[in-house]
Amino acid sequence: MYSFSQVQTYLKCPLQYKYKYIDEIIPPREESLELILGKSVHQTLEFLYQQVSIFQVPGLDTVVKEFDQKFNSLVANTSFEDDKIWIFKNRWRIYITNHYQRNHPFEWFKVLSTEEFFNFKLPNAHTFRGYIDRLDKNGNTLIINDYKTNKSLPTDEDQMYDEQIILYSYGILQKYGEQFDKVVGKLEYLHFDYIKEVDVSPNALEQVVKKYTDIVDEIEHKKTLFRQGDENAFEPKESSLCRFCPYKEICPLFAHWMGKVSGEELGKESIAAIVDEYVANANKIKELKNHNDQLKKILVEYASKNKFLRLFGKQYQIKIHTRKDFKIVDKDWLKSVLEKLDLLSEALEIDRYKVAKMIKSGKVDLKLLKDIVEESEVVTLRGGERE
Ligand code: SF4
Repeated sequence: MYSFSQVQTYLKCPLQYKYKYIDEIIPPREESLELILGKSVHQTLEFLYQQVSIFQVPGLDTVVKEFDQKFNSLVANTSFEDDKIWIFKNRWRIYITNHYQRNHPFEWFKVLSTEEFFNFKLPNAHTFRGYIDRLDKNGNTLIINDYKTNKSLPTDEDQMYDEQIILYSYGILQKYGEQFDKVVGKLEYLHFDYIKEVDVSPNALEQVVKKYTDIVDEIEHKKTLFRQGDENAFEPKESSLCRFCPYKEICPLFAHWMGKVSGEELGKESIAAIVDEYVANANKIKELKNHNDQLKKILVEYASKNKFLRLFGKQYQIKIHTRKDFKIVDKDWLKSVLEKLDLLSEALEIDRYKVAKMIKSGKVDLKLLKDIVEESEVVTLRGGERE
């Protein structure tokens, strides 16, 4: 079974996904006041809307009292400083007061459920698990509400939460679809007292469902490769998020320095010295190449001006060889010209990088290309400054 957070973990880093969901390595969970705040907000709004759903709208004071008890019990055995706890409590009071006043007397909609887990099928028949903070109905419209306590708003480019609510709409329609004409997604950013309505049009549903179905297919393909013995099927994807990764000590990109090193013939320090020497040499080679490119420019200009084909140093000589090269400006036009001349198949060459991409993504099964394509490993070393 898949979930939105599983897919997000995979997109962030396939190797982190493997550690968490295939190897089931559970990192120690760090409690933070942000998490406690999120938990308390969700629990208190759940309390509020459970009451609303049975026509017992509690007063704001009752809701705040409920929160204080929940928040206090969540911070009871932590070591956070009192003034920090106060800041988070105050944030909550503001969130809940704004939310309550905006929605009071809670009459224009009916609450169908709160904190609802549900399963649904993707078109590729894989099961996906969804979770909705609150589900309402207003006439023939189904409303999905998701509360966010983030202190920053996602940019227009960051569509993650929109996609989540669209995907859940697809799932919830499998459960209630026959009874409603329309679904509306609402992302409520409590910190900003702002509600973003998400477009859940058939077009948006189609695009998002296709995207997530394709990702699940890709994960399934990698799982198959892994089961067949490909240890590298889930590759590490380095990004700024590595700083917060709980698997850094075992990740092959960081384990040499952070993790335990066993069975090395050379010690960690000796390898470190070789790394430094290798990168310093690579930098020198790069510098020399740049310098040589400048020398080449001077020599070519000089030879061309004087119509020389060979230049002499005291120890070495250089022969100048010129050949014609051609850059394609309009590929489609060129194709049609070559086609007319019956030369297209002669000019077309299979792009091996594209073929490799098709194999890696599972679009083509390597078994089908047995005896046609040979698999090998290419090792590249890329040097850089240490963080
Ligand atoms: S440290 Fe970075 S690359 Fe390694 S598993 Fe974690 S997220 Fe992936």
